[in-house]
Amino acid sequence: MAEQAGFSSFRCGTVAIVGRPNVGKSSLLNRLIGQKLAITSRRPQTTRHRIAGVLTTDAAQLILLDSPGLQNAKGGVMNRYLNKTARQVAADADLVLFVFDAHRWTAADSQALEGIPPGKNVALVPNKIDSIKGTEALVQAIASAQALYGFADVVPVSARTGKQVPLLAQWCAKHLPLGPAQYGVDDLTDRSERFLAAELIREKLFRILGDEVPYESTVVIEQYELVKNVTRINATILVARDAQKPIVIGAGGERMKRIATQSRLDLEALLGTKVFLEVFVKVRSGWADSDQSLRAYGYE
Ligand code: GDP
Repeated sequence: MAEQAGFSSFRCGTVAIVGRPNVGKSSLLNRLIGQKLAITSRRPQTTRHRIAGVLTTDAAQLILLDSPGLQNAKGGVMNRYLNKTARQVAADADLVLFVFDAHRWTAADSQALEGIPPGKNVALVPNKIDSIKGTEALVQAIASAQALYGFADVVPVSARTGKQVPLLAQWCAKHLPLGPAQYGVDDLTDRSERFLAAELIREKLFRILGDEVPYESTVVIEQYELVKNVTRINATILVARDAQKPIVIGAGGERMKRIATQSRLDLEALLGTKVFLEVFVKVRSGWADSDQSLRAYGYE
């Protein structure tokens, strides 16, 4: 573990995976952090960027930054915005993995490379080596890339088969700055997020209802899951008596709508994802017949 290795030799820092669409960035990310962690990762935030996943080994912790296009890399929509943000991620990260398709170096690769500030610690990562025949084209592609940027290293991989991916992780571990791990195992579950979500909705309840807030009302998170950059949350406000329900719901559901909308906006800012929030009001003692729900659709 990190402690046994001693903080003096442990390394920790941020890693950006960049490159033009379709070269295999998302596949590589998943391969690096492992499917399991990718699902449970709570996506915490650094000061500027969201975290796509964290890989912790005995020697280092790699904080992999989310870059636009990692989730939806399917083409040219909003390209300018994506490029700008990708540049920012590359500029801010300690290390950059510049991924390209090992079959060929293209003009689009050159263009993507322009976004990386000079002097960064960048590994050139030819991906998809499982499907190349011979090395001649690869050698040529690498030379084209090296003519444009002073890469620290070249690490060919296959995100699909996992070949050489551990070597790439080792490269990162070796080049990150010295420092203790920033995230523990608990940070990578959604436990604390569920709690925060409940607190945030409770806060809105109190703010909007003021003195009218029914005594001992609580918020319970029934469902919480992150799917494709949307956090789906089902929450229930529990009140003690039937008569208290209309107070929380308000005329025509107006209060519930405000509680849900304001909670959603705060949650989106907190989590850095889109949020689909449903809030229900239930009477603690008499369930089924008293359900009232109001949907707050996640986003415009
Ligand atoms: P991104 O747009 O850069 O994030 O790329 P994706 O990860 O979405 O991958 C684009 C396509 O390349 C998908 O069809 C992947 O299945 C494929 N791909 C990714 N990595 C590899 C690899 O190592 N080998 C092969 N043969 N295909 C890959």
